[in-house]
Amino acid sequence: MTTSQPAHELTDLAQRTLTCCADIAACTEEPGQITRTFLCAPMHDAHARLDAWAAALGLQTREDAAGNWRATRRSDREGARTLVIGSHLDSVPNAGAYDGVLGVVLGLSLLDALKDTPLPYHVELVGFSEEEGVRFSVPFIGSRALLGTAEELLTVTDAQGKTVAQAITEYGLDVGQLAEAQLREDVLGYLEMHIEQGPVLEAEDRSLAAVHAIAGQSRLNFTFSGKANHAGTTPMHLRRDALAGASAFVLAAENLARNTPGLVATVGALRPLPGASNVIPGEVQFTLDLRHAQDEVREGALARLLAEAQQLAEARDLTFTSEVRLEEPATPMDPALTELLGEALAAEGHVSTPMVSGAGHDAMLLGHTWPATMLFLRSPGGLSHHPDEAVRGEDVEAALRVGTRFLHLLAEREEAR
Ligand SMILES: [Zn+2]
Repeated sequence: MTTSQPAHELTDLAQRTLTCCADIAACTEEPGQITRTFLCAPMHDAHARLDAWAAALGLQTREDAAGNWRATRRSDREGARTLVIGSHLDSVPNAGAYDGVLGVVLGLSLLDALKDTPLPYHVELVGFSEEEGVRFSVPFIGSRALLGTAEELLTVTDAQGKTVAQAITEYGLDVGQLAEAQLREDVLGYLEMHIEQGPVLEAEDRSLAAVHAIAGQSRLNFTFSGKANHAGTTPMHLRRDALAGASAFVLAAENLARNTPGLVATVGALRPLPGASNVIPGEVQFTLDLRHAQDEVREGALARLLAEAQQLAEARDLTFTSEVRLEEPATPMDPALTELLGEALAAEGHVSTPMVSGAGHDAMLLGHTWPATMLFLRSPGGLSHHPDEAVRGEDVEAALRVGTRFLHLLAEREEAR
């Protein structure tokens, strides 16, 4: 089996990948912006653009009942298992052109690069219909359908009071066929290519990285309570200023995260009450978002911050309460697949050290059922969920090189089974 591709071929495919992303960006609910939420009508046009390319490769395509775009390439090998390659086609409002979409189009590009190369596994390429959770406030509806667990979401409603089941019907699909969206094959693994959506690769001057874990996260709501009083007449030593206490906590969280490798801590919302310039804040409500690739580290950090909050409150004669809103364990990627991706990176001259994903992805959900791995592409400016979101052509080409190398290595591994 050949392991190298003619250089110009992948350069052309990288260009075609970017053109296809731009074509799909034109399929939008809001003229002048990129907005493509779950089961919106323009998703049909996005699928049509992918269909045209897939048809030229002789791939069978379909839209499943959850609105996922699917393309299947069958192997001649008896007892062949299935590699799933995918990412999502929905977007946040006023999005960029690459979050999710790039991974789907890169998948198609890889199948194009290998169109004349027999593989000992089937490939199921999926453009997930929903990952962002914009319309129904529940993420991963598309990937859940592949696992056969989307049924329970059919009665969830959007802002207009429409259910998922109604949305599926209005889009022109048969909700009765949802069970057929489940992938009932022997899946050898899941590969997701995605822009990093952060500044790490750019800071390290790297094009690509494998992902070894998707960080777990804790989200909490806090309230610090003191006593509101007159800003002019209450001397400093007689105050019970809840905002001063909360501010000390914000800095404590930042300090702990700065001194704990891999930990990120964010107080993203903070509301002092009553919120007037001449009143001492009597109460502050705020949030904490804590993430790390290892659950023990995150849990240990949270315990320390809760103890710190208690101490800060006592020292200032305040009271504090906290409420856990979300507790999501880390998702380790499959070590063997991630190592194979690392081999492909090294073989193509890249640093193979894997990184952690701080954001959630379809691989987070699917990684609990199938061996999963991810390939990140550098995000210029670390920017995402923004119209200026970008990707470098050379990085797309590098991803194609590493991707084809990975598929070859995977073929060798499957043949040796
Ligand atoms: Zn995404």
